[in-house]
Amino acid sequence: MRKRFIAGATCPTCQAIDTLALQRENNIDVVECVKCGHQMREADKQVRDQVRTNEQVIGIFHPE
Ligand SMILES: [Zn+2]
Repeated sequence: MRKRFIAGATCPTCQAIDTLALQRENNIDVVECVKCGHQMREADKQVRDQVRTNEQVIGIFHPE
């Protein structure tokens, strides 16, 4: 399973920076904070937009 850290993203729960990792689970993008374990799913559009934005910024967007 691929895990990609999101540069510059802030965890909404523990406020840590650069601890959010994006991974794919059952075809759903799941963002998990490796520090506090907080999980956000694709349904959370705000998080998704943040992930997409950051992916483009750091240039690791991989269309599948
Ligand atoms: Zn956290």
